[in-house]
Amino acid sequence: MDCLFCRIVKGEIPSNKVFENEHVVAFHDINPVAPVHVLVIPKKHIASVMDIQEADKPLIGEIHLAVQEVAKLTGVADNGFRVVTNIGKHGQQTVFHLHYHVVGGRQLEWHF
Ligand code: 5GP
Ligand code: ZN
Repeated sequence: MDCLFCRIVKGEIPSNKVFENEHVVAFHDINPVAPVHVLVIPKKHIASVMDIQEADKPLIGEIHLAVQEVAKLTGVADNGFRVVTNIGKHGQQTVFHLHYHVVGGRQLEWHF
């Protein structure tokens, strides 16, 4: 399977990593929408939230703990930030490997 983020996990495509452990990698988005824009992904290939299985429950917890770590490491923990995961066509998902955008470093707004 040719998946961009699986290739980033394997190191075949370079990324600017913020955090990594056994289960999760976090790296700066190539096209940031805010001063802090980091993608947190599981090393395991899961296409989207809709493909999470029962056995992935601990992994989803790992992702949330990694989000906390990324927020601290990038300095957005105190002022707050946003976590977004896009799903499918209407969600405008473009990379079909589960990822959580951690966005912050400026005042965000909410309008669609
Ligand atoms: P999506 O649109 O699927 O929610 O998010 C995909 C994100 O991946 C986009 O924000 C896009 O800028 C980012 N992205 C796409 N290709 C690369 C890449 O090669 N490296 C990095 N670091 N980010 C990428
Ligand atoms: Zn993948």
